[in-house]
Amino acid sequence: MDQGPNSKQTAPGKVFIVGAGPGDPELLTVKAERLISRAALILHDDLVPPTILALAGPQAEVTSVGKRFGAKGAAQAEINERMIDGARRGLEVVRLKGGDPGIFGRLAEEIDALEAAGVAYQIVPGVTAGLAAAASLGVSLTDRRKAARVIVVTNHQAQEASRPQAADWRGLIRDDSTLVIYMPGRDFAGLGAELLAAGCAPEVPAALVSRASAPDERYQYTTVGRLYNLSRLDSPAVLLIGRSLDRVARRGDSGSAFAFDEAELLLSSLEA
Ligand code: SAH
Repeated sequence: MDQGPNSKQTAPGKVFIVGAGPGDPELLTVKAERLISRAALILHDDLVPPTILALAGPQAEVTSVGKRFGAKGAAQAEINERMIDGARRGLEVVRLKGGDPGIFGRLAEEIDALEAAGVAYQIVPGVTAGLAAAASLGVSLTDRRKAARVIVVTNHQAQEASRPQAADWRGLIRDDSTLVIYMPGRDFAGLGAELLAAGCAPEVPAALVSRASAPDERYQYTTVGRLYNLSRLDSPAVLLIGRSLDRVARRGDSGSAFAFDEAELLLSSLEA
């Protein structure tokens, strides 16, 4: 290691690719919070809320690299460039992503770029949206009486005309699976028809959870056979499907999953 007078300028920076969790700042890991508070440069996605960005220190440059970046290819190249440039300037860079960086988060592309540039990096996992949604609904995705596996999938291609028909779902539909569908799209009628065509039973429960863990979180409960009834909720939203969601039915068709907050409120007023 260079111990000379210039060693400070040449000290290598590092990129931390950090999961910010689903939105509630209290669901950040302790490590994420520490890295955010001491970073010199924070490059964040749109999904990261202001309440989390507020944890950055006064020294930090906080930059959104979300949607306002125009064409997707250019955006990714520019994000890579900014991370690499920051590290080469000797900075501690936090690349902050919603949920977990490795779940539909383009983590692999960013790692490839950092490795190609010879930049040191570390990945800090976060609470992914599907798990936050399950927690809010009060369900276990692997309830062993009903589910033997969890399948994490996106319906993103549904927006593209070239999408191969229902065959996509055929390999995924099993009675003992819980499907966690990120970016479920808006065409719930089409999705329901595809799932039924792929062999899913119509009575299998489904729940759409919008803004999981945020104060304005909402959910709607239905079944695969009645998915067409689902109305669009605010994005981001995640769709959970499977018999492990049976118990949500007992709590009514929709609402805000605030049972815990209400219980908390009740307890604190009792204490007072
Ligand atoms: N890396 C993220 C996912 C990014 S893809 C994670 O691990 O959670 C973006 C999709 O994630 C959204 O379209 C939505 O389906 C889902 N999502 C992200 N945050 C969410 C939230 N708070 N509530 C519900 N869905 C969310």
